[in-house]
Amino acid sequence: MPNSAEGCGIYIHIPFCHSRCLYCAFYSSVGKSGLHSDYFEALKREAFERREWLLSHAPVRTVYWGGGTPSLPDARLIVDFMETLRQSLGDAFRPEEITLEVNPEDVDAQKLELWTKAGINRYSMGVQTLVPAELKSIGRRHTVEQVKEAAKLLRNAGDLSLDLICGLPHQTLDSFAYSLEGVLEMNPHHLSVYLLELEADTALTRLIKGGRLSVPDEEAVEQMYMLLCQRLKDAGFTHYEISNFALPGHHSRHNSAYWSGRPYVGLGAGAAGYLNSKLRCVNKPDLNSYISQGPTHELEHLTDTELSEEYILTRLRTCQGICLADYERRFGADMLRRLCANAKQHINAGNLVLDREKGFLRLSSPKACMLSDAIMVDLML
Ligand code: SF4
Repeated sequence: MPNSAEGCGIYIHIPFCHSRCLYCAFYSSVGKSGLHSDYFEALKREAFERREWLLSHAPVRTVYWGGGTPSLPDARLIVDFMETLRQSLGDAFRPEEITLEVNPEDVDAQKLELWTKAGINRYSMGVQTLVPAELKSIGRRHTVEQVKEAAKLLRNAGDLSLDLICGLPHQTLDSFAYSLEGVLEMNPHHLSVYLLELEADTALTRLIKGGRLSVPDEEAVEQMYMLLCQRLKDAGFTHYEISNFALPGHHSRHNSAYWSGRPYVGLGAGAAGYLNSKLRCVNKPDLNSYISQGPTHELEHLTDTELSEEYILTRLRTCQGICLADYERRFGADMLRRLCANAKQHINAGNLVLDREKGFLRLSSPKACMLSDAIMVDLML
């Protein structure tokens, strides 16, 4: 069971973007470059406020810069922030992994030098697809050439993770395979492949609902996912979480710690963190008030039922699955009995595997991964 002796993580949210991608529901704003410096100053103040918490959960093992677009602001701001963190936390700051999410159009040698100076050793780049018409359909502004150039630079500077999306407008099995082969040629250490989510109130959802664009049907998306899993297995990647694949030793430590319940603090407007296993802290997504008054924290004390649901949602997504002994320790024998009873129909259908020897319940196959949402709902009954 994770405890403070295992350390903690820091998530930093950068809520700025060049433009709005049509499918995006993340908290972010466009055209606010004049606020970057002030925002980083506010981040430093929040990090200082969190100093005691960070020291009491030391060491800091991972840092994750997410967004928004963390590669957009002047890279010197990141260098300065990391230096402040190091000075403030001293020996307690020992991250083995510092990830920066980047957009291809932002990457150049000069920025890379500064990111390296800041200690960034892992890059997660949003590629999404290598087909120009598909990029255009979701409002991404980068080009395929920019992806290739950026990947070359980043590959030499640290671990490289590339993101793709499955189920885009215009996407076919062939075009998905083309993008997949293209990103494999860039020699990434890690791939994250997400199924397109049609979030409420995004421009893409409106276009699709209005009949002006369409997306591949479930069967087509399933074929893409099956192809993906097989191709990456052949290429030596471990499928360690529903959407994540890594070469040996290159899984995301930050996300894995999150899935295993290690605490982390979220800094920035709209950031969220788990201060302990039962306390979630969300910063109000309001850029201006974050800068002028600091974060407004919304604390959520999770009930046992919510914790159990969260546990099932995160653990079942991983290749190890749910550790039954750990589940019982946290939630008791009655809840475990209920979980096992709910799992029965899916074990009988071949979508869940109960590994009695190791005491884990997990998804059985890529096909079962595609059904995971429905399976999780049944397990949480
Ligand atoms: S770059 Fe990322 S955060 Fe920004 S609009 Fe696009 S998907 Fe959203």
